[in-house]
Amino acid sequence: MFVTHLESALDGTVFPANTLQTTHRDKPLWVRYDTKTISKSISKEALARRASGLWRYREFLPVPKVTEIVSLGEISTPLVRVDKLARHFGGQNLFIKDESRLPTGSFKSRGMALAITMARHFGIKKVAIPTAGNAGSAAAAYANAAGMESFVFMPDDTPKVNQFEAALYGAKAYLVNGLITECGRIVREGKEKLGWFDLSTLKEPHRIEGKKTMGLELAEQMDWKLPDVILYPTGGGTGLIGMWKAFKELNEMGWLESATMPRMVAVQSDGCCPIVKAFETNTRFAEPFPNAMTVASGLRVPSALGDFMILDAIKKSNGTAVAVSENRIIEWMKFATQMTGLSICPETAACVGAFEKLVKDNWIKRSDTVVIFNTASGLKYLDKTEMVLPRINIQEPINWNAFN
Ligand SMILES: *Cc1c(COP(=O)(O)O)cnc(C)c1O
Repeated sequence: MFVTHLESALDGTVFPANTLQTTHRDKPLWVRYDTKTISKSISKEALARRASGLWRYREFLPVPKVTEIVSLGEISTPLVRVDKLARHFGGQNLFIKDESRLPTGSFKSRGMALAITMARHFGIKKVAIPTAGNAGSAAAAYANAAGMESFVFMPDDTPKVNQFEAALYGAKAYLVNGLITECGRIVREGKEKLGWFDLSTLKEPHRIEGKKTMGLELAEQMDWKLPDVILYPTGGGTGLIGMWKAFKELNEMGWLESATMPRMVAVQSDGCCPIVKAFETNTRFAEPFPNAMTVASGLRVPSALGDFMILDAIKKSNGTAVAVSENRIIEWMKFATQMTGLSICPETAACVGAFEKLVKDNWIKRSDTVVIFNTASGLKYLDKTEMVLPRINIQEPINWNAFN
């Protein structure tokens, strides 16, 4: 264990390591490490020999004992070069890191693997979460694996697959006739009344650490030379914040071989873009986004607890925040799926739209290496992407011309 302390992201207040902490003044906490000692304890060569998956980075994580890890067989996700898609938009070096292959079909498993491992370490028996979809599935699956009871609350227009998943993985799952903020209120009250542990985005410090492994893994896969640009579909922002933290820790350790850090781009839909608005007006915190509406359910976060942490990472990296047209998300999803053969989710489709825009604006240069995260499987959104196939009636002669 190389954790030195926990630290308020708002004002730097310090809390002791290895204690159960949630937030400070309602804002998130960082887990801090002695990165010098990490670099003495593990070498890149030793790391290269380890099994695939996020636990290979255990020195970078708050893991108490290897035997306490809750795992569902996470893999290191492939980084796929997508030339056809890149060329179509006038780009060149484009990669998709395909997170859809993780347990429960989304990258939420990274955060939940850590959050649940740590919750169990601290003796938690009941967890609860408000969710727009994939976080609920992952929480249910990992809680089940840890022998915990889980309660999942989601707005009643959450994708059907997510509803069934949460229930199938063993959660007490409920639909709520309100937005995610209402679901959050139920969890807050249940915390008081029934002692639930709140797994909401950034209400505990370990989901960031789990998502940080996206950054560590990407760095290792690219031989410790980071890409020029990362396009990240931003809801609560855990992944963007986590990756930026990974890059800073690797930099402190002297492990990075690139001269510059990636420019971090927060991508949202114009149906829900509080971070883009705050970036454009250069404010530290974001205003809650009214009437948040997007088919990309992972991006439907009208007010993010870590807004200032997202904005800080974007600015420090010389990045930007982009809102793309909600009306075109499904079109980009279908197109990118055909061009890549990967099962692209609507959140990632928004990043494809951002790629198109940023290449056109010359904000992304032709020679830039760009990475997009495919944060979940497109299969989770079937009820949002109606597709009716032509039928063949075997009672009638086959019309062979139809195939030409
Ligand atoms: C949760 C989610 C996001 C947003 O992730 P954050 O790290 O919380 O911003 C993006 N895409 C999908 C598919 C998600 O489930």
